[in-house]
Amino acid sequence: MDKKNSLAQLYDSVRTCQKCPLYKLAKNPVPGAGNPDADIMFVGEGPGEKEDQQGLPFVGAAGKLLDEMLSSVGLSREDVYIANVVKHRPPGNRDPKPEEIEACFPYLLRQIEIIKPKLIVCLGRHSLGRFLPNVGPISQIHGRAFRLRGQCYMALYHPAVGLYNGSMREVLFADFKKILIALKKIDRAKGKDDTK
Ligand code: URA
Repeated sequence: MDKKNSLAQLYDSVRTCQKCPLYKLAKNPVPGAGNPDADIMFVGEGPGEKEDQQGLPFVGAAGKLLDEMLSSVGLSREDVYIANVVKHRPPGNRDPKPEEIEACFPYLLRQIEIIKPKLIVCLGRHSLGRFLPNVGPISQIHGRAFRLRGQCYMALYHPAVGLYNGSMREVLFADFKKILIALKKIDRAKGKDDTK
C-alpha cells in the first residue's frame, strides 16, 4: 500500500478512536497533515479550538507563527508533515494527560513508520517528554539534535511560546535555522538518501 493510502487508513482509525475520553468532547479528530514523503515531521502537543473546528493541525495563532518560521527557512507546509501527540482536543486547551498521550502514541508511531522522516522536530515539552524523556528540560536543550535508536530528533519550544513574547520569538526563529543544519548533517552522515 502506498503512503497516502496507509495514512488514510490510519486517519480512519483515529476518527473512530475511543481509547481515551478526549473524543467525547472534540468536534473533529486532528490526525495530522502534510507531505507523506516529508524529511521533517513536526510533532506538537494537541489540537486547540481552531484545529478542533477544522480537523487540521496548527491552523490557529500558533500555526500562523509556525508558517512564518517555516517560510523563514524556505519551507512550506507542503514540504513537511505535522502531527500532535494527542489527536483530539483536550477540553479548554488543558495539557494532555499522560494516559491520553500513551493511548494515542501508537497512532504517532504508525505515522512515523509510514512517513519515515529523517528528522522529528518536537514542538514543546509534551512532545519532547514522550520521545526523549531523559535529555533535560526544553529550556536547556532547545535547538539541539539527538539520535535515539536510529531516529534523529530536534527539540524546539512550542510556537505558542513566541506569541506574546518578542524575545522568545527570536529564540524560536534562531532555533528553526538549526533544523536545516541538522538535516544536512543527517544527509552527510548517511550519504545520499535513497532509502525512501
Ligand atoms: N498547538 C499544538 O500543539 N498543536 C496544534 O495542532 C495546534 C496548536
